[in-house]
Amino acid sequence: MPASHAARDGYAMSLRLGCIADDTTGATDIASSLVGAGLRVQLVHGLTPGPDPDTADAIVVALKSRTAPVMQAVEESLAAARWLRARGARQLVFKICSTFDSTPHGNIGPVADALRELTGASRVVVAPALPVNGRTVYQGHLFVGTDLLSDSPMRLHPLTPMTDANLVRLLQAQVGPDLAVGRLPRAVTHGGPDAVHGHLDAQAAGYVIADAIDDFDLAALARAVHGAPLLVASSGLPAYLPQAWGWTARPDAAVLPRAGGRAAIVAGSCSAATQAQLAHFLQAGGAGLAIDPLRIGSVAQTVADVIAWFNAQPVERAALVYATASSEAVQRVQQALGVERAGLVVEDTMSSIARGLVAGGVRRLVVAGGETSGAVLRALGVASLRIGGPIDPGVPWCHGVAEGCGGVGVHLALKSGNFGGTDFFDRAFACLDRDCA
Ligand code: ADP
Repeated sequence: MPASHAARDGYAMSLRLGCIADDTTGATDIASSLVGAGLRVQLVHGLTPGPDPDTADAIVVALKSRTAPVMQAVEESLAAARWLRARGARQLVFKICSTFDSTPHGNIGPVADALRELTGASRVVVAPALPVNGRTVYQGHLFVGTDLLSDSPMRLHPLTPMTDANLVRLLQAQVGPDLAVGRLPRAVTHGGPDAVHGHLDAQAAGYVIADAIDDFDLAALARAVHGAPLLVASSGLPAYLPQAWGWTARPDAAVLPRAGGRAAIVAGSCSAATQAQLAHFLQAGGAGLAIDPLRIGSVAQTVADVIAWFNAQPVERAALVYATASSEAVQRVQQALGVERAGLVVEDTMSSIARGLVAGGVRRLVVAGGETSGAVLRALGVASLRIGGPIDPGVPWCHGVAEGCGGVGVHLALKSGNFGGTDFFDRAFACLDRDCA
């Protein structure tokens, strides 16, 4: 940005993108993409201005709307959208999961409908593709690696099992009856912005599912749609928006304060990648303690026991506390407690443990699981995060102040369950020094 422009820019003038993410790790994922593209990004958890709002090029609001009741998800998303627009956001991105995590009724469709009405957008491009993590869209169908979504491990997700890969059908069932869901084929995108605009103009009002199988597709798509008032996307497409707009990258976009203190990992995800990371960590001699959702809180296992166990581990290496379990074990817990209550019990437990760990001196914390991460941020009282460089695609280190633990600064890596390489847990801590000033 030219200096004169920077001087003229107040908060409202400088804010370029407003993003509404339907879960916490989705928020860190898109924030990481935008930081990678050279934007200074602030993540807010709840609608409170953070300590450093004037300099943000993009603000990402992290909601917990993916699995919330539909009306609540719509209201919270609208509140976030109005909040961002009041701060000058010129463009809104509704950040969804690249595996289109939703139930048969929402919440992607109802939230998109509400944002569409708010922004006055007629045809909204929906782009879940994230090729760097193997999520591609072709002929309107979502693939995870070589599998259709419906054949991928996502079919077994505890909260949003995905059993259909046809995104047109999935979204059509979630949106208003008067809205159409069409497709934007790759060939059209590669025809350039005019071809895309012509194609969109020929569609009925509603949504178009954009095919994209690699980053060239996403870059071409961004060049065509970067001016849209509303986009529905994973973190894939937004990474190309700054370039499409021609915004200059900031060299200090990813710098975080220096890190220190004890290191811990809290895993509440049962996704395939987290299972593999956990197995790798334990096989390599890492210390880990399993939480049993049916015993926690009883005499047999209390949060205080868990903290005492952690304190007895060697300080040089991160120790791991996990609820991660096989889908059979999760089903047993869900049968005993009910699906919703099972999720809440585990999230409450893991977030109480995280709070106990930070209160006891942990300052570097990896959290695995989207819902789990949201619960941890709430328990720590972290309202705002600065975003650093990536550990793996979509998972950056972040820094925030834990108001719920005496206002201490803490470095957090909030990992969507299925993100990250097998050696993620140990490598995350090795990466941290790289990004800290
Ligand atoms: P992901 O990012 O993999 O989707 P989340 O944290 O978003 O992970 O979701 C996992 C859900 O499964 C959470 O609600 C968590 O509380 C729940 N969960 C984790 N472990 C268990 C378990 N052992 N039994 C039942 N539910 C569990």
